[in-house]
Amino acid sequence: MDKESLIVSLKKDGYLKSPLIAEAFRAVDRKDFVPEDVRDSAYENIPLPIGFGQTISQPLTVAFFLELLELKKGEKVLDIGSGSGWLAALMAHLVSDEELKTGHVVSVERIPELKAFAEGNIARYENLRSTVSVVLGDGTSGFPDEAPYDKIVASASAEEVPAAWKEQLKIGGRIVAPVRDSIVVLDKVSKDEFNKKQHFGFNFVPLVKGLTN
Ligand code: SAH
Repeated sequence: MDKESLIVSLKKDGYLKSPLIAEAFRAVDRKDFVPEDVRDSAYENIPLPIGFGQTISQPLTVAFFLELLELKKGEKVLDIGSGSGWLAALMAHLVSDEELKTGHVVSVERIPELKAFAEGNIARYENLRSTVSVVLGDGTSGFPDEAPYDKIVASASAEEVPAAWKEQLKIGGRIVAPVRDSIVVLDKVSKDEFNKKQHFGFNFVPLVKGLTN
């Protein structure tokens, strides 16, 4: 499959709706975010191994995440689980306002080698590298230094949405996070109140507490 056929199939299956997100898929090429040995499969609608028992997410999941996030230019986003950096780079493309110099993605990864892999992949995109900060850490506690966030997204699944993410979200903001085999959407309506929606039928690597060393 080539890039355009992938986009067409994601549209046909209802995962990809917004023209801006389709444009982000064209601009931020999945081929630049997968290891060389699986590059021929970059446009297959499957997760692919990136080492350390981890995967770059399936394109349909990424499209679904991006649709649910409803990102706008200038927003500040927290991304838990950088992995390959593909989702972080796609989000940077969508929030970056080049004129106003606003829009920021903070991406947290717990495996040092993958933090470096994500950074290296994102650095290929001259226009996006200043929009993304990849940090090493346990994303279970979010990243308080840059809080509050307009949006928070995670690519690794937990038993429940960590309290730190709810605290670090702006009122009016949204969390999109895997909980077991589902995707939970939480809208923060006041300091302690959230509206919840849940979408079933997905697969994720687990959110692991603590660092590797
Ligand atoms: N968004 C990534 C998906 C990577 S898979 C992409 O576009 O490629 C999920 C990632 O979450 C893995 O790299 C894994 O190491 C990381 N992860 C798991 N638990 C974590 C935690 N507690 N803190 C930060 N990263 C974590």
